Amino acid sequence: MEPFDYAKAVALIKAPFPSGTVQKRGDNGRAYIPNQVYTDRVEAATGSQWSREIKEVEINIPHGFVKVVARVTIGEHYRDGIGFSEIETDQNGKRKSVSNKVDQAFAEAVREALDTWQIGWKDLAPFYKETKDWGSNPALRYLLESAPGCGSYDPGLQSRGMVAHNCIFSGCGKQLSRDEWDFLGLIPSLNREKMVYCFLHIPSHIKKKAPADVIAKYEDRINRHQS
Ligand SMILES: [Zn+2]
Repeated sequence: MEPFDYAKAVALIKAPFPSGTVQKRGDNGRAYIPNQVYTDRVEAATGSQWSREIKEVEINIPHGFVKVVARVTIGEHYRDGIGFSEIETDQNGKRKSVSNKVDQAFAEAVREALDTWQIGWKDLAPFYKETKDWGSNPALRYLLESAPGCGSYDPGLQSRGMVAHNCIFSGCGKQLSRDEWDFLGLIPSLNREKMVYCFLHIPSHIKKKAPADVIAKYEDRINRHQS
């Protein structure tokens, strides 16, 4: 088995998610990414070489909250996060079950811990651009501009029909062929500096924006090159 490559795993963790991943909360409209998406990303990025554990639980009945400290370990590195959830009471003033509150606080704590590896930052930054929000901070502006590879071509790669862009689909990372890169350029309103996908991993709702004859042509070409 290959030795665990922490830097590579973290780079994959931070990579942008497919468009449509960010959702808006029903109550306050804040942008967020579902926990399952994070779990799936970390699973794929680390090849399951990560763990999460509860370090501390406080169930505070008088003040009606549950607090959980969670530790996430990736390779040899760990980060702790804290999560809270409120214990609600029913109409009769009786405490509702706390067991799912522990789960909720744990999920939040794991999310907080993962956040320190900048998971989802590139996706969430555009939603937090107001002056009061973190995404507008000049020190983090690169999150809004960062374009993997910035379109730079390595002549050596070009002669082999490859470009200096890698698929951002979690767990893929395949270097794109010139055909694949050109295809991304033909999808209307797609920023291919950000949405870098190999042909196989282009989310279908994006792929189908390309004209049908273009899709057919590239499907044919790309299959021919790969077989
Ligand atoms: Zn791919």
